[in-house]
Amino acid sequence: MHSSPIAVFQTDNAPALVARLQAAIGTSNVLTEDSDLAPYLTEGRNLFKGSAVAAVRPGNTGEVAAIITIAREFGVPVVAQGGNTGLVGGGVPFGGIVLSLNRMNRILDIDAVNLTMTVEAGCVLQTIQEAAEAQDLLFPLSLGSEGSCTAGGNLATNAGGTAVLRYGNTRELALGLEVVMADGRTWNGLNRLRKDNTGYDLRNLFIGAEGTLGIITAAVLKLFPKPKSTATAWVGCRSAQDALVLFNRFRRGAGDTLTAFEFMPHLVLEFVLKHAADAVMPLGEAHARYALIELSSPDGTLDLGASMETLLGEAYEADLIQDATIAANESQAKALWYLRERMSDTQSKEGGSIKHDVSVPVSKVADFLDQASAACEAEMPGIRVVAFGHFGDGNIHFNLSQPIGMDKAAYLKKWEHFNRIVHDIVAGMGGSISAEHGIGLIKRDELALYKDPVALDIMRSIKQALDPDGLLNPGKVLPDKT
Ligand code: FAD
Repeated sequence: MHSSPIAVFQTDNAPALVARLQAAIGTSNVLTEDSDLAPYLTEGRNLFKGSAVAAVRPGNTGEVAAIITIAREFGVPVVAQGGNTGLVGGGVPFGGIVLSLNRMNRILDIDAVNLTMTVEAGCVLQTIQEAAEAQDLLFPLSLGSEGSCTAGGNLATNAGGTAVLRYGNTRELALGLEVVMADGRTWNGLNRLRKDNTGYDLRNLFIGAEGTLGIITAAVLKLFPKPKSTATAWVGCRSAQDALVLFNRFRRGAGDTLTAFEFMPHLVLEFVLKHAADAVMPLGEAHARYALIELSSPDGTLDLGASMETLLGEAYEADLIQDATIAANESQAKALWYLRERMSDTQSKEGGSIKHDVSVPVSKVADFLDQASAACEAEMPGIRVVAFGHFGDGNIHFNLSQPIGMDKAAYLKKWEHFNRIVHDIVAGMGGSISAEHGIGLIKRDELALYKDPVALDIMRSIKQALDPDGLLNPGKVLPDKT
């Protein structure tokens, strides 16, 4: 657990606050018992333990606005929560109110001609995917947490996932938002337009703001034609450098059909095979590095299997890859993706893990992997580099598993030390210390070191303008001024 991250907000008149909240949204939607509050006070990795006077569960935008107005009156902070699957401590409250959007989970509209879906913020991502599919359409955001994360959380963190290469981050998948502001007013920006040049881009202020500028209550999302042909391959190669050349060949050869290009070293596959009972070794023998490649198209007449075979055949001839398997059907493709999906949780079975979610320009991703791995291995012999992820986006989950037998707590104390090593290399390559999970609490102080000071000042000015009393998710994202 990380040490005391921010001061806990103390409320003098909690009973009066709770009474007002109960009157506004109903007693059963204001949770105050310790056992009811517990799930809202920490997140999956259990790195932070928070506290709150109450967790509130509004049923509509008007109730969200009422809660914010009451919070303002009492001067207490509000932390928004969706599925609570965040990984950076952003949704953990330290006093005040947790505002859960989970009851606001309706799909409000699907426009199959405009290719848009309007949803309430608490709608679970998988529900959105399934509703699109029922219309023979696609909502392409795809994350390991899709069974519980919500549209509001996806927007607030600008979530990435495995289809960013083809469709972009959540930011690129949203057309409009409805947001309850810190002053209790509601901005209706549920715009369904592809073109709208009427001034500042307000929508993009709230996307990626991690609940520090407003509470997202609804959104208009973009839909796409559903892929009708797909080809999936698992490829073994010698190095990240070879994987980069292979990626570039696919980028040029497969064009827009290239939907995913994921990367992992053998150690990561070894962890999955060891800890996930139903995982199956995809190739005849082990290789140093692997890529998981997917092509897809809404054009059902395309033979993407043949395109995959040609591109991989040429790569084999050029000695870029050593072996590959192309899924013969959907269940084989699922089995390959299953290996990728289990990479995070199986790593947790190997003791302490120091995690970095970073990105560099795609042209530098292999250099980053080589340099950062060598630097960490030199710093602590026996450390196990578990670097995998969205290679085609230049985004690597550069995780470091503890040396076998080392004390976990002693190892995790080195987190900041390894931050410096890894983040300095990232910064030297013009990269980002947070590719897709956000800043939250865990990277707040790192942001002070690596973000352009002018950018930080602009961010503080925006926060001051939209939330002058600092009530929305205080202490998150923005580092304290030194
Ligand atoms: P929460 O965790 O509830 O909240 C996250 C942040 O958003 C908090 O700061 C919170 O205050 C704020 N917030 C939530 N709802 C609102 C709202 N309505 N208005 C304003 N602010 C709000 N992330 C990726 O990007 N890519 C991945 O591939 C990925 N894979 C994951 C796999 C697993 C197994 C897990 C556990 C997590 C993964 N994540 C990934 C992280 C996480 O799922 C995403 O950040 C997700 O977008 C969070 O959604 P949520 O609804 O759970 O938000």
